[in-house]
Amino acid sequence: MKNIVFFVFFCVVSTGVSQQTEYVDFKTAKANIVFGDLKENEVKGFVTYSFNVLKDVDSIFIDGKHMKFSNVALNELMQYVDTNHFNVNYKNDSNAFIVYNTFKKGECYELKFNYSVSPKKAIYFIDWNVEDGSKQVWTQGQGKYTSNWMPSIDDMNDKIEFDLAIAFNKDYEVVANGNLVKKEESKKANIWYYDMQKPMSSYLLAMAIGKYNKKVEYSNTGIPLEMYYYPEDSLKVEPTYRYTKRIFDFLEEEIGVPYPWQNYKQVPVKDFLYAGMENTSATIFSDTFVVDSIAFVDKNYVNVNAHELAHQWFGDLVTETSGTHHWLQEGFATYYALLAEREVFGEDYYYWRLYEYTKELLEQDKAGGSTSLLDPKSSSITFYKKGAWVLHVLREKVGDKVFKEGVKNYLLKYQFKNVKTDDFIKEMQITSGFDLSDFVEKWLKNDKFQNEECLMFLKNDSEEVNELIQLNEELIFSSDSLKISANHYFEKAKSLRVKSYFLSKEVIKYLNHNSISEVLSSKDIKHRQAIAQSVSKIPLELKEDYETLLDDKSYATIEAALFGLWNNFPKEQNTYLKKTKGVIGFNDKNIRTLWLTLALISDDFEPENSEIYFKELESYTSSKFSFEIRQNAFSYLTWISSCENECKENLEQASKHHNWRFSKFAKELLKVKSKI
Ligand SMILES: [Zn+2]
Repeated sequence: MKNIVFFVFFCVVSTGVSQQTEYVDFKTAKANIVFGDLKENEVKGFVTYSFNVLKDVDSIFIDGKHMKFSNVALNELMQYVDTNHFNVNYKNDSNAFIVYNTFKKGECYELKFNYSVSPKKAIYFIDWNVEDGSKQVWTQGQGKYTSNWMPSIDDMNDKIEFDLAIAFNKDYEVVANGNLVKKEESKKANIWYYDMQKPMSSYLLAMAIGKYNKKVEYSNTGIPLEMYYYPEDSLKVEPTYRYTKRIFDFLEEEIGVPYPWQNYKQVPVKDFLYAGMENTSATIFSDTFVVDSIAFVDKNYVNVNAHELAHQWFGDLVTETSGTHHWLQEGFATYYALLAEREVFGEDYYYWRLYEYTKELLEQDKAGGSTSLLDPKSSSITFYKKGAWVLHVLREKVGDKVFKEGVKNYLLKYQFKNVKTDDFIKEMQITSGFDLSDFVEKWLKNDKFQNEECLMFLKNDSEEVNELIQLNEELIFSSDSLKISANHYFEKAKSLRVKSYFLSKEVIKYLNHNSISEVLSSKDIKHRQAIAQSVSKIPLELKEDYETLLDDKSYATIEAALFGLWNNFPKEQNTYLKKTKGVIGFNDKNIRTLWLTLALISDDFEPENSEIYFKELESYTSSKFSFEIRQNAFSYLTWISSCENECKENLEQASKHHNWRFSKFAKELLKVKSKI
């Protein structure tokens, strides 16, 4: 999983559940899922589980939250003879479903039942109440528990081969884990039969339903790469999924173990909870990453694409036994995504990103937030970025060849199983012949982040980043004022290849006119953007140069430049508004919502259209739009003190939204409003 905004992710394993793996092993689950009233979130299903009993026991249980069960029947599969199912005693509470029987060690059983539920989380019904909304259904198992919508095993240590058959209105596409083996069509509904051939933890079970088209490419090894998109987004397919096949081929080669599943599907959904989620063979990601070529410059799917794909091995094929070993998933996914980005964007980018990670980790360290990588309560920065650093350092220590060999051995040995950190370390020790106990002590168990050592690695590995580090140190320790040192820094940095990645807003803010003018007359889109975003007072002599920012192929630049110009040169507000009329911007309509706001508050700009513009801006607060658009509209309307009536109602409704970041935003805005 990858968060858009990083926050602490706790992996919770409920204690009662983890013990069941000692006496029962669930093998397969076949589920036929139908939906009742979509406005009421109704899910119903008929499920068949098969399991082996490892110890004599008088009951077994399956997790299911607030579910109703019926037609429960058990069948002992004796020596290939399928005996009749018989009804059994069972009971269920709000968490689980318990079946009583004299279960005998060494026997296999088949359990069948019907269930129904209206889940509160883990499955989301989007816009079924909204007349012309997106109308989707999608799931999120990690951190939420699949057992909210499908009776399953919360404990990730029991891996099951799931086959889902889902009936749904024939106008929609249904995506789930595995291979689509059959689609039964009828006048109203289709039944989609998905088949998995290998087992996985229940949290990776998923489905996504909506109106989609798909583009299919094939990896070098013949794996179908299915890229889903909304029918209206056909022009965004290329920029959104840019480098997908290259990343896939690279990772398969780099990891050295063939991609473990039948195909790889990626599906964007509205109002997703995170950036992406690595459901086995079916990654679901936020449609905010569906971009055109201009948006690609500032905000693209490449890193998330590589990260979720890496999880198909690290997380899905081998899965942590508990949160203590969470870095085996997130550290690996972050590291391999970075390697994939190195393949696409080059060495400088790779080392520059690692340098960025050290800065974040150091900041966390200074704030007292550093923890051991094996602390299940570590922050995302630790799991993801310290985890990636540990792998980078380990590779430097044992060498490329041994590192790759060790990772390969580890994956093959534990494939379709669960893993602990020790399992990985042992495999690396065997392959390398090194004693890694000091390494483990220093890099995995130690709370402290080894900043100095990381910087040494970078200085040795990359001439470019070495110079950059030295420049940054000069800047920090310079006795000159920041204004003098920033200009000196700028002069020196110009010759660096990696300059386009790092010339920070902090430095740009302090540049003198000549340097700003030099940047503005350059074609470096990122540096020009930094000027747009950090120079708030535009000197008159730079006005003309600054105006050229409105022509840049970057929605972030245009947004910042429009506001900057509008604010600095009131007499020319109409000119700037006319020039940017009709520009929408990112998926969150960053430019359009700003433009409408400025149009409304500019004294003499199209007064005859004020009402139309206001209605349009207010309409963006409705749940028909993605939470990112709504967030912009709410902010701007509040800024101009016009969030009343419809906007206010929508804001109240937003405070109950399933996306906690958005509901938190709405609640805070309501609080601010109530104080005004
Ligand atoms: Zn992840």
